[in-house]
Formats: sequence, structure tokens, C-alpha cells
Amino acid sequence: MTRTNRQWRLTSRPVGMVSEANFEFVEEPVPALAEGEYLVRNLYVSFDPAMRGWMEDRKSYIPPVQLGAVMRAGTVGQIVESRNPAFSVGDLVQGLFGWQEYAVGGSGLAQATPVPAGMPLTWPLGVCGITGLTAYFGLLDLGRPQAGETVLVSGAAGATGSVAAQIAKLEGCRVVGIAGGPEKCALLTDELGLDAAIDYKQGDVAARIAETCPDGVNVYFDNVGGAILDAALAHLALRARVVLCGGISGYNEKEPPPGPRNLMNLVIQRARMEGFIVLDYIARFPEATEKLREWVSPGRIRHYEDVQEGIENALSSFLRLFRGQNTGKQLLHLGDPE
Ligand code: NAP
Repeated sequence: MTRTNRQWRLTSRPVGMVSEANFEFVEEPVPALAEGEYLVRNLYVSFDPAMRGWMEDRKSYIPPVQLGAVMRAGTVGQIVESRNPAFSVGDLVQGLFGWQEYAVGGSGLAQATPVPAGMPLTWPLGVCGITGLTAYFGLLDLGRPQAGETVLVSGAAGATGSVAAQIAKLEGCRVVGIAGGPEKCALLTDELGLDAAIDYKQGDVAARIAETCPDGVNVYFDNVGGAILDAALAHLALRARVVLCGGISGYNEKEPPPGPRNLMNLVIQRARMEGFIVLDYIARFPEATEKLREWVSPGRIRHYEDVQEGIENALSSFLRLFRGQNTGKQLLHLGDPE
């Protein structure tokens, strides 16, 4: 049977905001498999702000996406053909299979791992996948929150931030979330049980941090960087921990944004600021995935998914992250298992 694949290929490196001009939407037959390969039919595609960095030709923790190559993304899919004894037709798998309907796996970064038995298909991409794991290790390993401390989280209605904020609540902390708009802020306090929310699109963020964190911020979990990071640095408590998870406010800037002005407060408060990449923790993923599953299954951690439809909407789904259109994990649904 000849199958047709539709895919998004990166054709130029974006300068500033990503646009359609940086891609080609291609339709072509699926190639025949070589020995050791298998064919994955993608069911869900994950969108992560980090993908913006993968489009740049620079040294990073993972090689850039080559021009002419299919845009890289985590996906969950089903094996529909196999010439590899480790994978059988019908197996549900996850891997870096990209913005496309079908992917040939078994070489390079395109390696499948099984979806954990009984786990809903979207979870390995979100709350029990890279985003949940990022929240888990960033908050617990770097933030080291203690019961009674104040934890401030930016991007708090996003996939990573919402999980980090809820883990901090489970650890017995007072938790304040920063997000864009009244609906997201209401979700933080009314549905996720945070102690306060700050709408960074309304009013003075620094003043609101001072008001909602009167004893200072013990742990700041930062997803956005820029002016919000700067405002948080001005309100650190003694021996605070600043977890640099990401800096989405600068990802589409043509020039790197200026550095924070309040860095000296780290000296005054004897504070620590540390970045991390979740992939450093691969050896501990099984332990953390199990823990997240234990929290998510009975609803102790709530999680949200924004699911768009159809491969033609891959780019517009990605752009939702930078427009703040997603609440929770941004996904694209391409099909259901057979
Ligand atoms: P997400 O938070 O679900 O989605 C992105 C959110 O960022 C948007 O919904 C939007 O929320 C906010 N945003 C967009 N532009 C902004 C701006 N200019 N200023 C402030 N907020 C803005 O995405 P995610 O996948 O969970 O990723 C969150 C962060 O974690 C990113 O920085 C990502 O790079 C980082 N991350 C790091 C690692 C690691 O290993 N270190 C791994 C995964 C993710 P609002 O509507 O509230 O603005």
C-alpha cells in the first residue's frame, strides 16, 4: 500500500517571530522501510517553546533542525509497519517524530519508546512527559521548596508552570502565579488553588509581587525571563532560589533582551539562580513519571490541554504558545489508534 505523508519542512531560519515563510508544507509518498526501521503514524504532536531555539543555527543541548528537514517535535504515534523485531504493528510509541503524519523511525534522533501501559495518549507529551518532568525536577531539585515558604511561578497557566505551581502547593507552600489575562488568573486561584495570581498584562507586576509576597519570594520558578524575571529578583527573600526554566518573552526577539537590573539583589539576599535542562535527568525519568502519575490520576494535580486538529495547523498551533492562546499543554491531534 502506498501511503501519502504531509509534513512541514524548515526552509529558512526565522529572524524575529516565526512565520509561514520559514516553512514548506510538502506532500509526498512514504518511503519503503530499510531493515531495522519502522513506520510511525503520528497521533498527537507536542508543541514546546524550545522548538524556537531548535530553528536557530547555534550550539545548544541538541543539534539545530537542518534546513530542508522536517520540523522536529515530540509525538505519540502508532507503529503501522515494522522491519524491526523490537516493534510490532499496533504498538503505541513516543519519540521525536516531527511535524508530519508519518515518520520513519529507527535511526538518528527518531527512536521510539513505548507509551506506558494504560496511560492516556496525551500524557506522555504533557503532564507525565517533558513538561511535567521539567516542572518536577526544576521545582524540587533546584527550587527545593520547604513547607510554609512562598513560591512564585511565571507562565503559571502554561503546561510547565501549572504543574510546578501545583507541586509547590502539594509541598505545603504558599504559591503565587503570574499569567496573562483575567481568565488565566481566575483559573490559577479558583481551579488550581493557588493563594494569589498576578495578571502581568494589567498594572505594575513588581507592586503586585510585593503585595502578594509580603515576606519575599523564597523560590521563583521562571518560565518567561525579561521584565517579569527582573521584577521577581527585586523581591527575593533571604537565601532564595531562582530556577531558570525558560525565557519565552525573549525567544522571538531579534537581539537578546538586556540583562536584569536587579541582579545585585542576589548578593544582598545571598540567593542562588540556576538554569537546567530536563534532559539532564533522563536517568530519573521513570521515578518522576511514576510520581506524577500518582498525583495526576486521582486529580491531586490538575492538567489542561489545548488540542488543535490536523497537520495543516502545525505552525498555527506552535504560534499559539507565543500569543498566550494556550491554557496548559499545546497539542495537535492527527488521528486515533487503529
Ligand atoms: P506554556 O507555558 O504552556 O506556553 C507558553 C506560555 O508562555 C503562553 O501560554 C503564555 O502565557 C506565555 N508567554 C508567551 N509569550 C510571553 C511573553 N512575551 N511574556 C510572558 N509570558 C509569555 O509552554 P511550556 O511548554 O510549558 O514552556 C514553558 C517554559 O518552560 C518555556 O520557557 C520553555 O522554554 C521552558 N521549558 C524548559 C525546559 C527545560 O528543560 N529547561 C523544558 C521544557 C520547557 P500567558 O498567556 O500567561 O502570557
